[in-house]
Amino acid sequence: NKFKDGLAKTRHSMAARVNNLVKRYRKVDEDFFEELEEILISADVGVNTVLELVEKLKDEARTRNIKETEQLKDVIIEVLSNMLTEDEKDAAIAIQNDGLTVILVVGVNGVGKTTTIGKMAYKFKEEGKSVLLAAGDTFRAGAIEQLEVWGERAGVEVVKHNEGSDPAAVIYDAIMAAKSRGVDILICDTAGRLQNKVNLMKELEKVKRVISREVPGAPHEVLLVLDATTGQNAMTQAKIFGEATDVSGIVLTKLDGTAKGGIVLAIRHELDLPVKLVGLGEGIHDLQPFDSDTFVYGLFS
Ligand code: GDP
Repeated sequence: NKFKDGLAKTRHSMAARVNNLVKRYRKVDEDFFEELEEILISADVGVNTVLELVEKLKDEARTRNIKETEQLKDVIIEVLSNMLTEDEKDAAIAIQNDGLTVILVVGVNGVGKTTTIGKMAYKFKEEGKSVLLAAGDTFRAGAIEQLEVWGERAGVEVVKHNEGSDPAAVIYDAIMAAKSRGVDILICDTAGRLQNKVNLMKELEKVKRVISREVPGAPHEVLLVLDATTGQNAMTQAKIFGEATDVSGIVLTKLDGTAKGGIVLAIRHELDLPVKLVGLGEGIHDLQPFDSDTFVYGLFS
């Protein structure tokens, strides 16, 4: 199971430490909860989420009269899983049954945006959909070429202009091409500079305006790509992009490369945004839908 393998680092740190704690304490007491808090915070679960989680655990322990840590461990899994599944209904990518689906992909340079677009294109193609990519990052040197490399790998075409040109114009052309070819899914790359929030906001607004004018109801998804290895930085980025545009979901990349997979919980809980996909490696197949049960049980088993 790729998802479970991808979580190996987090499992080894966070879950192994929780298991160890459970064995060491045997009896549930205040010190036990304090150490548990420390472990979860160091796995980047996020302070607020941890405090709430531990409160819930204490409540459960009280109402169910749980005295043994071994018993409480099952409750940890249960409470974590409940926290993640609360809003799971919107975890799927909103693909239209009829007509063109437009997906806008945003995120800071280096988080794995291009790789994710390539993997998504491949995935949709495998599912029998026709896909087109729009090279909307006209700002970063090499971004267009890099997207073309992924387009080739995935076997899909890329609509592009020259570096430095207007991203909204590229995306307009891509929409026209997608419509005339009867394409199912158009995935649009965007520039990932955060240095100037006002510019970022303006650019994203303009791009979105073009999309919604040409395709009513679109963009159907605005996916924010975050790098799990950056921990709380990812949270900051999510807040900034959340203010700049209406983000509909998160793609969390590099989950395979971090012991801080607890960030999934922080994102889900503190930002109230669904984690829709997770990146579990550099290869074209290494993208999976996020499944909270597999995530939580994968962490602790
Ligand atoms: P961009 O600047 O956001 O477009 O980032 P890229 O797509 O170029 O990715 C940056 C680096 O992260 C590359 O070396 C990718 O191979 C790597 N990368 C992207 N996604 C993943 C992932 O899920 N797991 C791992 N281990 N590496 C990834």
